[in-house]
Amino acid sequence: MMTRRQATATLLASAAMARLGWAGAAHAQDADAASAPFSLPDLPYAADALAPVIDAETMELHHGKHHQAYVDNLNKAVEGDEALQSLTLSDLITNAGTHPPAVRNNAGGHWNHSFFWNLMAPEDQRGEPSAELIQALETAFGSVEDFRTGFEEAGAARFGSGWVWLIVDEAGQLQITTTPNQDNPLMDVAEVRGTPILGNDVWEHAYYLTYRNRRPEYLGAWWDVVDWAAVSRNYANALG
Ligand code: MN
Repeated sequence: MMTRRQATATLLASAAMARLGWAGAAHAQDADAASAPFSLPDLPYAADALAPVIDAETMELHHGKHHQAYVDNLNKAVEGDEALQSLTLSDLITNAGTHPPAVRNNAGGHWNHSFFWNLMAPEDQRGEPSAELIQALETAFGSVEDFRTGFEEAGAARFGSGWVWLIVDEAGQLQITTTPNQDNPLMDVAEVRGTPILGNDVWEHAYYLTYRNRRPEYLGAWWDVVDWAAVSRNYANALG
């Protein structure tokens, strides 16, 4: 349930982004509130906009094939089930442990990728972190650099496929955590729960064409395409 204050903040943020010609967070908000049938959000930039960090072919496959498959399989997983079809993506995620595995996996895949595209931006549209976010990173990790190192190490150490996250935990503190497969920290099944404000996809499909088996190299290069203004908005929204 969105409070009036959160709704106002969302509207203000959307207006600010509309002025910048940037509809990123609006896509993410739409995805959260949507119910079946789900649809693939547009990429908020051209497929080659983040090259060479993320090459165009990887982006086209990742968005057009992988994310599309999560959307299609989520629609199949809720087909014919009125109760599931009435739930928003946000509801499906929060109570993932009570739904069939196909719902958990594909709702997670749809949510995670919708979130992920909007954390990145072309060079001329990337913003800086807010003073509040820098302060919180320093409090939690010692420095922004130490945070980055910790995030990269956690992503590299996640065995198999999954995600590495920066979350606001239930105590309002920043934490680094990882999840397997397409789980995420909003899910009831997550070992460490919280609201993601940044996340990186460490499935091989996210990096293999450029980086081959060198996941740590991908994690290190990825910072160059992160839009810290988007992360800062996520941080402010997570605090409510
Ligand atoms: Mn992916």
